[in-house]
Amino acid sequence: MSAMVIDGKVISAKVREEIKEEVMKMTDKPGLAVVIVGEDPASKVYVRNKEKGCEEVGFYSEVHALPERTTEEELLSLINKLNVRSEIDGILVQLPLPGHLNEKKVINSINPEKDVDAFHPVNTGKIMIGDYDFLPCTPAGVMRLLEESNIDVSGKNCVVVGRSNIVGKPQAMLLLRKNGTVTICHSKTKDLKAECRRADILVVAMGKARFITSDYIKPGAAVIDVGMDRDENGKLCGDVDFNGVKEVAGAITPVPGGVGPMTIAMLLTNTLNAAKKHGKR
Ligand code: NAP
Repeated sequence: MSAMVIDGKVISAKVREEIKEEVMKMTDKPGLAVVIVGEDPASKVYVRNKEKGCEEVGFYSEVHALPERTTEEELLSLINKLNVRSEIDGILVQLPLPGHLNEKKVINSINPEKDVDAFHPVNTGKIMIGDYDFLPCTPAGVMRLLEESNIDVSGKNCVVVGRSNIVGKPQAMLLLRKNGTVTICHSKTKDLKAECRRADILVVAMGKARFITSDYIKPGAAVIDVGMDRDENGKLCGDVDFNGVKEVAGAITPVPGGVGPMTIAMLLTNTLNAAKKHGKR
């Protein structure tokens, strides 16, 4: 039997609609500032989508597109200004930054209360102790997909493939907080297939096109594919071999149309929450 396909587009639209309804009742609108440095075409598309997302739910937004040659001093000075402006509730610096800019220093300069990407060490630390204001957008989107699909995490064997700071590690923390029994796998894991086959919930974030095939899957498992890769023909695909795995899994997210659309929805959720924390009603 074929797996239930978890539709990220539908669930993301629902989240954005909820935000829009809430914003309509507010007199002081949430505001997001997006900063982009340089000309990376993929980053430009992401920034445009974030801007469109803000417009759609009625947020105030501004994009600061800075030239490639921008100095660290200039960038930090802009962030300092955004940090104190009351109409700005969230600040997002689009990564990656050009090589001459120190990403760590730049992220650390964002006011943690406006860090809607949740990359600042204060916010990553808060996730560790379960006392957080913001969740990183992609892992939060995965949790919302599970919740909306009525997939209960409590007591389940959860396996996360990947241990990056933006996806794998926080994902493991969020599953643990929901009482999953969590295993984190990475490139040094001895028998990845055996680990994956124990998973009731498998979250894959490794960046390897269609790596996870049906023989990695426990029958009936929920499989969440975070990967955004290109196959040998340049076509967008995930880390999971969707066609094969859907015949074994109980539920599965497609790529595109699974985790991807949730990321912006969660960014908007974080910005709304920041605005409320800043006293906007
Ligand atoms: P990353 O920083 O490159 O991390 C990849 C992780 O996968 C690493 O921990 C690596 O292990 C592990 N890995 C790689 N090959 C492996 C193998 N053969 N066996 C076991 N583990 C392996 O990537 P990322 O930033 O987390 O992103 C992962 C994927 O998600 C990418 O395709 C990215 O484009 C996508 N992504 C999507 C969204 C979205 O909105 N949908 C957001 C963010 C990222 P080591 O640590 O040992 O090297």
